[in-house]
Amino acid sequence: SQDLYAVYGASGCGRGVMPLARQQLRQAGVVPERLVFVDDGAGLPPLLNGQRVLSYAQFLAEPARQRHAVLAIAASTIREQLAQRCAQDGVQPWTVQAANVVTMDAVELGAGAILSPFVTLTSNIRIGRHFHANLYSYVEHDCVIGDFVTFAPSVMCNGNIVVEDHAYIGTGAVIKQGQPGKPLVIGRGAVVGMGAVVTKSVPPGATVVGNPARAMG
Ligand code: UDP
Repeated sequence: SQDLYAVYGASGCGRGVMPLARQQLRQAGVVPERLVFVDDGAGLPPLLNGQRVLSYAQFLAEPARQRHAVLAIAASTIREQLAQRCAQDGVQPWTVQAANVVTMDAVELGAGAILSPFVTLTSNIRIGRHFHANLYSYVEHDCVIGDFVTFAPSVMCNGNIVVEDHAYIGTGAVIKQGQPGKPLVIGRGAVVGMGAVVTKSVPPGATVVGNPARAMG
């Protein structure tokens, strides 16, 4: 039997990722019948945007030589839980990217990434597992991005920035570039609000908003 591919999550994020997954598989010569949604939620239709919707148990029961899943859920802690579950069951992390993504030199991209249309990754960048880069986001030179990091649309992540695990960057946020050997650091699990202009490092777990971005609360 052939490989089976899943977009895990059949809500907003998943429905945006599915067409990219479909196109990627078409280019690899895989028929669309081998691509499904997987979702643990109740009350989903059997077919969504032309693709079958399976529970995780059904996905595991389906005959397949190898199973692959891209975790299309914006909440990073859920992505981490599902990544563990998939690893236990031998489901391979799958990277899905739009055809027009621009990737320059020496980009190390961890497993299970989602790169939406118009994303650009420039040169000498390291990115961890299950990164989400939504529409028009970019990562500039010499950045280091951790695991389970989420960029909403149009995030401007300039050069020499470190983004630690589970950080969430809102739509249209601008992060000022750091310096070689002295990066600007977005701490683990920090949240940067939409449209924020981040001019200095953000501590782990903090939420910052505004221009210049300041801690909330
Ligand atoms: N979901 C799931 N397993 C989980 C947690 C969530 O299948 O352990 C599904 C949930 O049923 C829903 C989707 O993931 O369909 C999350 O959708 P939501 O609208 O909350 O977020 P988004 O699509 O924006 O990431």
